[in-house]
Amino acid sequence: MSKPLLQTTIAGSLPKPAWLAQATQLWAPWLLEGTSLADAKRDATRLAILDQERAGIDIITDGEQSRRHFVTGYLEHLKGIDFEHLVTMRIRQRYEAKVPQVVGPIARPRPVHSDDVCLLRAETDHPIKYTLPGPMTIVDTLHDAYYKDRTRLAMEFARILNQEARELEALGVNVIQFDEPAFNVYMDEVRSWGIEALERAADGLKCKTAVHICYGYGIQANIDWKKTLGPQWRQYEKTFPVIARSKIDQVSLECHNSKVPLELIGLLKGKDVLVGAIDVATERIETPEEVARTIRAALEFVAPDRLYPCTNCGMVPLPRAVALGKLKALAAGARIVRKELGAG
Ligand code: ZN
Repeated sequence: MSKPLLQTTIAGSLPKPAWLAQATQLWAPWLLEGTSLADAKRDATRLAILDQERAGIDIITDGEQSRRHFVTGYLEHLKGIDFEHLVTMRIRQRYEAKVPQVVGPIARPRPVHSDDVCLLRAETDHPIKYTLPGPMTIVDTLHDAYYKDRTRLAMEFARILNQEARELEALGVNVIQFDEPAFNVYMDEVRSWGIEALERAADGLKCKTAVHICYGYGIQANIDWKKTLGPQWRQYEKTFPVIARSKIDQVSLECHNSKVPLELIGLLKGKDVLVGAIDVATERIETPEEVARTIRAALEFVAPDRLYPCTNCGMVPLPRAVALGKLKALAAGARIVRKELGAG
């Protein structure tokens, strides 16, 4: 049987239930502690899976329900990083955030996400995707008071991420995605060391590997930044040729409501393309027809068996009902185009 066309998936995160963390807030603190918190994270993960399945999403994530943030949620499990003395730093050359510091050799005392993946694998029969922060984005989300060398630090993180990724693959993950929004900010560094660090993180994996490159969550700092990028956003033009030559299988990118010229997708020949057909910067829910329109437009530049309708970015800062509506719209829009292709 041939592969089903236009399989839907999300960038990664979903909003958390109100009993787990405050809604519509990035880095929202947990509302529970100890075993109650661990139980609540698992319950939230089950709901995130169910919401995706019911909406008709094909490749399922855990909605990142066990992490407060996609970067620090990983880092807080490592050694050599001080979370007691946070430093205010400008990240992504865009907004200030309180970030942890590297104060010694970084090490991973134990697997971080194995339990999360075991739960995800046990709770759904769908293919599953697991997201990890990419090395360059990690380096851009902390203060380095130890290595004092971004490239070396990125390679250290790549080594640790690769161990993690190999373990998660062995637990049955179908796709491992590295989130690299920093690739849209430091385009020259992507070429000089970012892509090497990413390939090291993905080294030896036999499951599908993906990289997610976006223009960020729908927070005000990002909305303001986008206004400065001019009538056409051409950041991908520099990075896509580099990624096209890499071993990474899939690229998740931002399309709907963005000013990214869609022909840039043509630079990703030979790769699967996760087309952002859902805008995470607005609470307005797309109609299925709007989603279908974005997919059709992208089909001008990528073959249908390589196109995966997706969200522009994570949906964690959105109200839960909005995110659920967007999941349904994504699946319904893909169904429309599948029918048109005679694959419905
Ligand atoms: Zn993103």
